[in-house]
Amino acid sequence: MMQHIEQERLRFEQQRRLIYRIAGVLGVLAILYAQCINFIDPSSSYAYRAIYALNHIAFAGVCIAVVWMLRRQHIPIDRIERLMLVIFIVQSLGFNGIVPAIFLPSPSAMLIDAIGDDIWFLLIICVLAVHLYDVRRGALIAASVFLVSFGIVMIQLARWRLIGVDAANSQQVISIYLMAGALLGFLIVLSAYRAQAERLRTGYELMIHMAYTDTLTGLPNRRRLYEELCRLIGMADRYGQEFCVCLFDIDHFKQLNDQHGHLVGDQVLCAIAQTALPHLRAVDHFGRWGGEEFAILLPQTSLSDAQMALDRVRMALQAINLADVPTITASFGVAEYLPGDTSESILHRADQSMYLAKTTGRNRIVVDGDVEAGLRYAHR
Ligand code: GH3
Ligand code: MG
Ligand code: MG
Repeated sequence: MMQHIEQERLRFEQQRRLIYRIAGVLGVLAILYAQCINFIDPSSSYAYRAIYALNHIAFAGVCIAVVWMLRRQHIPIDRIERLMLVIFIVQSLGFNGIVPAIFLPSPSAMLIDAIGDDIWFLLIICVLAVHLYDVRRGALIAASVFLVSFGIVMIQLARWRLIGVDAANSQQVISIYLMAGALLGFLIVLSAYRAQAERLRTGYELMIHMAYTDTLTGLPNRRRLYEELCRLIGMADRYGQEFCVCLFDIDHFKQLNDQHGHLVGDQVLCAIAQTALPHLRAVDHFGRWGGEEFAILLPQTSLSDAQMALDRVRMALQAINLADVPTITASFGVAEYLPGDTSESILHRADQSMYLAKTTGRNRIVVDGDVEAGLRYAHR
């Protein structure tokens, strides 16, 4: 489970590295384009164009540095993302907020500037902040940058109005900012909803995992096996699919506990779980029935095939080699599904067979109460 989560995390990290690298290269191209326009734009002042030219050089340099850092796998991706967030915030407040507000001549020029980059920078800041931090902190960062930028724009629009500059397009600038604010709000609400759904899903999955898993061995527990048995009976009733049920119990386990302690007893139970598993098919259901008793459900398996598979398990358990622990053996009882069987009736027959295996010498398999058949098979 943990391995799977780690694999997913690494996959997501590699995807982000790739996306940011592509975005970085596209960013450099976009800056080059912006600089060409800046170069030939006759409407802006020299000071404004010079400030932007310097900013373009710095921003392109930062983009190249980030692309280079992304290639270095040892630099943690979240550190690069935090750096990107700071760069975007500085860019947004400085070169989308303060500088244009001071240097642009009119609301019309400001409108073009707002559509060109302000809104996109705010969106990037919001996405990065929500991704890097929890939704509340991300929302706070995005809302702060938005409000400061909007505040600067509003102050400049008011100033222009006061000094009598042509106010055409002021409304559009405000509309653009309000739309961006709504979009940011929507993004944050969606993120909060997703985070909440993810929390619920993780909690639910954990609850299901805990409800169906044996804590010591990590195998399916009795509840899980019982549900699977009911499902197999349903399939057998409906489609006539044969299956077998096996219960096996460790021989003289109490003695082992008494002589070596409960901790060693627990280790033996775990070793049994690990040893038996590879000898069963992926479709078989192997779990801990309780105490030192295990159960195996073998779907679409005849009694003789079940016997063959279980004998492999029996011999594998015998071969477990733990320091100071005597040879481990177990007694197996097997029952084949018969038409009309209930979970209780088939489990009862498996249990009876296991009891017979115990009383006739242990370390053996008894199939549906037939002691001889088990012995014949084991001695073949
Ligand atoms: P038999 O061959 O007839 O099965 O004898 P046995 O000693 O195995 O059977 P018995 O039922 O008398 O003893 C089972 C023991 O298994 C008693 C109990 O303390 C021990 N046991 C049950 N669950 C656990 C567990 O989770 N860990 C450990 N260490 N021991 C357990
Ligand atoms: Mg026992
Ligand atoms: Mg027992």
